[in-house]
Amino acid sequence: MNQFAFEARIPRVIFGSRSLSSVGAEVAALGCSRALVLSTPAQEREGEVVMRLLDSRAVGLHAQAEMHVPLERVRAARAIASELNVDCLVAIGGGSTIGLAKALALESSLPIVAIPTTYAGSEMTAIYGMTEGEVKRTGRDPRVMPRTVIYDSELTVSLPLRLTASSCMNAIAHAAESIYAHDGNPLIALMSEEGIRASREALERLIEDPHDPEIRSKAQYGSWLCGIALGSTSMGLHHKLCHVLGGMFNLHHSELHAVVLPHSLAYNMDAAPEAMRRIARALAVEHVPSGLFDLLKRSGLPYSLEAIGMREEGIQRAVELVTASPYPNPRPFEKDALVRLLTQAYNGVRPI
Ligand code: NAD
Repeated sequence: MNQFAFEARIPRVIFGSRSLSSVGAEVAALGCSRALVLSTPAQEREGEVVMRLLDSRAVGLHAQAEMHVPLERVRAARAIASELNVDCLVAIGGGSTIGLAKALALESSLPIVAIPTTYAGSEMTAIYGMTEGEVKRTGRDPRVMPRTVIYDSELTVSLPLRLTASSCMNAIAHAAESIYAHDGNPLIALMSEEGIRASREALERLIEDPHDPEIRSKAQYGSWLCGIALGSTSMGLHHKLCHVLGGMFNLHHSELHAVVLPHSLAYNMDAAPEAMRRIARALAVEHVPSGLFDLLKRSGLPYSLEAIGMREEGIQRAVELVTASPYPNPRPFEKDALVRLLTQAYNGVRPI
C-alpha cells in the first residue's frame, strides 16, 4: 500500500426520490432565512418550485445562470444578492448553475444548498471556475464547497437522453482519473470503481428507458461517488485536454469529455495498469478504451471531435497549450503522442 494522507471534506447529503421537499428544513438547519434561488433560464420553472417550497425563507429567484459562468453574470448576481441581503444560495441545476453559486460564495462565503439535476458532480467539490472573455479561471477554495446537497432523482427524469449519456460519461471521467491520481488513496479508489460501475450500469439501462426512476436514482448515486472522487484528487491528462479544447473551441462540456475519454485512457493504458484493471472491472470490459468507445456509440452520442465542432487545424496549438502547463499524469505529456491522440479523437477512430 502506498503512503497517503486523506481528510474527507464532503457536504451533508439528502438522497432520495422527492427529497426536494426537505429544502426548507435544510435551509433552516443552516440557520438561514433569506435564500436566493439560482437556476438557468431553461430551468426557471424548477426554480419557482423551490421558491414555493422555501416560502418565506426565499427572497428571490435569479434564473440567469449560464454555461462557463461568465464574469458579467457573476457580477449581476452578486449585485442582486447584496441588494436582497441574502444569507444563503440555493442552486438548482447542473454544473453551470452550481458554478454560479460557487462564484458568489467565493467572495461572500454564503452557504450553498445544491440541488443537482445532471451528473456532472460539481456539488461535491470545492472547485470553482469562471470565464472572463475567452479565459477560464479555475481554482479550489473551501468557501465554495456546498454545505448541503439534495439528490432528488425525480429532477433528472427530464434530462434529455443525449445530455444524460454525456453527463454519465463526464462522471466516469472524474472517477477514472482519480484512480490513477498521484494523490489518490484506497478509499477514493473504492468509491471511484463503484461510481464508474453504477454510472455505466445506469447509462446502459437509460439508453433503453430514460424515464425509469429507479435507474435515474442509480445514475445519481454514481455521480455522487464520482463527484467525491473529483473533489478529493488531482485530475490528469484527460481533464487537461478537455480544459484546453473547451476553452479554445467553446465545445459542449460533457460531450467533449465523452469524446476524449476513450483516447486519453488509451494514452495512459500502459502507465497505469492497476487502475486500468479496476476501470475495466467497473465497465465490465476487457479493454478500457475500446469498451468506452463502444459505450459512447451505443449511447447515440457523437464520437469524434469533428462532430462536436472542433477544427482540425487547432490540434497543434492545443498540444502546445496542453504541454505548456501539464497536469500530473501517470505518463508524461509527449507532444507527438498527443498530436496522434487528438488526431484519432478528431477522426473518431476506435482506440485499440
Ligand atoms: P449545465 O449545467 O451547463 O446544463 C446544461 C443545460 O442542461 C442547461 O441548459 C440546463 O438548464 C439544462 N439542464 C440541466 N439539468 C436538466 C434537467 N434535469 N432537465 C432538463 N434540462 C436540464 O451542464 P453540466 O454538464 O451539469 O455542467 C457543465 C459545467 O459545469 C461546465 O462549465 C463545467 O466546467 C462545470 N463543472 C464544474 C465542476 C466543478 O467541480 N467545479 C464539475 C463538473 C462540471
